[in-house]
Amino acid sequence: MTTETGIRTYGLLIDGQFVPAASGETFPTYNPATNEVIGYVARANREDVDRAVRAARRAFDEGPWGHMTPNERARRLRRVAEILRERVDELARLETLNCGKIIVESRMDILAAANCFDYYANLTGQIWGETIPMNGPLLDYTVREPYGVCGQIIPWNFPILMAAWKLAPALAAGNTVVLKPASYTPITALVLGQTCLEAGIPEGVVNVVTGPGSEVGAAICEHPLVDKIAFTGETETGREILRLSAGTIKKVSLELGGKSPNIVFPDADLEEAVNGSLFAIFTNVGQRCTARTRLLLHESIHDQFMDLFLHKASALRIGDPLDERTQLGPLVSRRQCERVLSYVERAKAEGAALRLGGKRPDDPVLQRGNFVEPTIFDEVQPQMTIAREEVFGPVLAVIPFRTEEEAVEIANATIYGLAATIWTNDIKRAHRLAARIKAGNISINYPVVNPPEAPFGGFKQSGIGRELSRHVLDLYTQVKNVVVGLSEQRFDWYGNWPPGR
Ligand code: NAP
Ligand code: MG
Repeated sequence: MTTETGIRTYGLLIDGQFVPAASGETFPTYNPATNEVIGYVARANREDVDRAVRAARRAFDEGPWGHMTPNERARRLRRVAEILRERVDELARLETLNCGKIIVESRMDILAAANCFDYYANLTGQIWGETIPMNGPLLDYTVREPYGVCGQIIPWNFPILMAAWKLAPALAAGNTVVLKPASYTPITALVLGQTCLEAGIPEGVVNVVTGPGSEVGAAICEHPLVDKIAFTGETETGREILRLSAGTIKKVSLELGGKSPNIVFPDADLEEAVNGSLFAIFTNVGQRCTARTRLLLHESIHDQFMDLFLHKASALRIGDPLDERTQLGPLVSRRQCERVLSYVERAKAEGAALRLGGKRPDDPVLQRGNFVEPTIFDEVQPQMTIAREEVFGPVLAVIPFRTEEEAVEIANATIYGLAATIWTNDIKRAHRLAARIKAGNISINYPVVNPPEAPFGGFKQSGIGRELSRHVLDLYTQVKNVVVGLSEQRFDWYGNWPPGR
């Protein structure tokens, strides 16, 4: 559907068809760089969720998906990857309009989504059980079976990539899916759903419903025909997901927030550490769960590091995210922009020293969009709000430290445990810290990158379960144990009484 103005209306993807919401309602979606409406999206309610869940249920219980051989499923997943690569420029542009991400990063995300589909295509035939040696004349083996219908709820910061991380392994294992994208960024998830259809994934296997999380997301979590929930988003929402899923004892996996430390020791390659730290905080304008938002700097290198770091950060080009030269785009929404600026005010009030940014850019061209300058606070104390809460914007807290012991203590002084980076050339120190920091993802002399081969997830209140790698298959399959009696002697418990004689 396209209106006279060229603005499209996107339906819900249910049972292989794009359909309007039962209520007929839609909601607008905006370009974060200009706040212009770029499309309208169907606003689902509980009735639509029920239709989508029933379609997924039928596709799982009766449809061809579950009967396909691993190779047949793999061919379709590989085809999704091929289509994403064939259309990378068009989809990257759409993703930039959808969420404001700079075009260079959008292209990386589309290709990363393709890699994710390829990776799980390669694993479809490798989901197997084990045979277990028994203490008696028994054969015991396990089988890994898909759960069935998976409800998947995702955030706005990596719209298509998060959808790929969720869909590819669930489908590889033979599940069917009801996916709910974030309301700020619904479009590319719908397009990915369409891509799955084009790739030959049967109707009803991938359903995409758009609408408010408090209603649509909640309905998915509570639906008795949904077997499993996979959620990525804020820790507070994660708590609500657990409560909503409790009624039907859903299997739940959670990927939640972070406040990840980035620790620089005097023996590090300082220039590389500066470059890596810039990447770790400013890519995607800091809107990443693994952003290294706390820079722990050893006091002896503090001034030297900060000179170079501030010099490079102030030179980052902020502007139109569709321009190939732009390095920092807008935040996802006006609301997110205001939230980030309120954290800036709070940090100032609590006594952190603002060294860079802290405001919207002066350039009049950028006033319509949700831009915030790269922002760096120095002399941050671990108890300040800016050191404890997730800002989800281009805001860095620099915390000086004196000893390795103190660095570990500060690094772990958070409810989160998603990731950490250590910059040092002392091999013993590097591994000592990797062992002592309570986080699911540690990088040493390397910034934030999450390829599908490596497991990803959080300690503490950063989540439950591990996505990516082979580990995620544990989240999308359940173990069935089969035991077979082999003895020639007939089983007769009461006939041989008392037992054991
Ligand atoms: P969010 O507010 O928690 O929303 C995430 C998703 O949950 C959205 O689709 C949202 O729908 C839905 N939702 C909201 N309330 C719900 C409810 N009561 N029941 C069911 N679903 C509900 O997160 P966000 O603001 O989109 O994303 C930012 C957060 O995601 C950050 O905290 C970040 O750290 C985290 N994140 C974590 C990872 C990771 O892998 N660990 C990766 C990326 C992001 P609406 O959009 O309609 O509200
Ligand atoms: Mg939110």
